[in-house]
Amino acid sequence: MSFQNPVFIPGPTNMPEELRRACDMPTLDHRSSLFGEILHPALAGVKKILKSESAEIFVFPSTGTGGWETALTNTLSKGDRVLAARNGMFSHRWIDMCERHGLKMDVVEAAWGAGIPLDQYEEILTADKNHEIKVVLATHNETATGVKSDIAGVRRALDAASHPALLYVDGVSSIASMDFRMDEWGVDIAITGSQKGFMLPAGLAIIGFSQKAMAAVETATLPRTFFDIRDMAASYKNSLYPYTPAVGLLNGLKRSTEMLLSEGLENVFARHTRIACGVRAAVAAWGMELCAQSPDLYSDTVSAIKTPEGFNSLDIVNLASEKYGVAFGIGMGEVAGKVFRIGHLGSLTDVMTLSGIATAEMCMVDLGLKVHLGSGVAAAQEYYRSEFSEIKKAAA
Ligand SMILES: *Cc1c(COP(=O)(O)O)cnc(C)c1O
Repeated sequence: MSFQNPVFIPGPTNMPEELRRACDMPTLDHRSSLFGEILHPALAGVKKILKSESAEIFVFPSTGTGGWETALTNTLSKGDRVLAARNGMFSHRWIDMCERHGLKMDVVEAAWGAGIPLDQYEEILTADKNHEIKVVLATHNETATGVKSDIAGVRRALDAASHPALLYVDGVSSIASMDFRMDEWGVDIAITGSQKGFMLPAGLAIIGFSQKAMAAVETATLPRTFFDIRDMAASYKNSLYPYTPAVGLLNGLKRSTEMLLSEGLENVFARHTRIACGVRAAVAAWGMELCAQSPDLYSDTVSAIKTPEGFNSLDIVNLASEKYGVAFGIGMGEVAGKVFRIGHLGSLTDVMTLSGIATAEMCMVDLGLKVHLGSGVAAAQEYYRSEFSEIKKAAA
């Protein structure tokens, strides 16, 4: 690991200098009026990034995992039924959390590399005539496999079944990098963290509640104290926290939302798509395949690349770290040893991405894989060059 090189892990992501400075503040009395000038713009910025008019935004000193717990404990009661799909490590962990909270799970098992099986969601919801299922979970972007699921499609499945269940979406590795439409998709709770698309250090759970989810808070009986959104909401009215806020991180969040919104959300998404397409061109030039089963599932924030049978993909990650000082993502769970991941979200440019592709190539050649030095880099260069001329043409 070298502090000079960018990281290519799918979170924590590279921090722009400006955000590092925004987080680095002298101590500020969080009960002074200055705090509200940080808190409220940060919450308003998050709301815009979620593309919501009516969501209530909560930011806890925590991580994405704490966001899951906030969603579950504030709106559900022991024994409530929850529908979820397991198609990777993160959806697996969310299901595990539900089970530990005594929720009754309907789990659809899917291949690691597949998206959320919408047909099965619709079938299960249609069969649930008494509407016992209270919540449907969806992991928008499975960071372990580089698979993007169709959240609009999950909403269509709920509507086709005329089912009133709430829809909770883990957008930890998609929000602020990939298109996310809380209102349009009828998302009731959207969850993310500070260290991925927002390009900040880990330390904040960022959550949006729809008005329907807010209504569910009143009847839910799962125990919650630290993550009780009622305490948080009451404190926000006075520009306070129910405890000590992470002021520097919140100032970073305020600045991050300003940066993202001034770049323009659609431009941010297009940049991620372009960078990802370059990585995918490199993977194809290497003669390798992604873990994601089909192009509609390809994630624009992380690529999980399958390595040949009998080869331990962890060797690439270890060598990259030890020899070249570059971080890639390891394979997790069912795909441990079988894939390595290139994270390509947050503060990245085409040029930075080329350095990651070049490093992966050196490692694979070092380890005896049949990959030619420069092949992936050249494919990505061609892609970035041609995309650039397209952009120029569009602007002319
Ligand atoms: C990173 C990640 C998480 C976990 O977030 P933490 O901030 O590490 O708690 C959850 N879901 C997805 C999809 C992620 O990528």
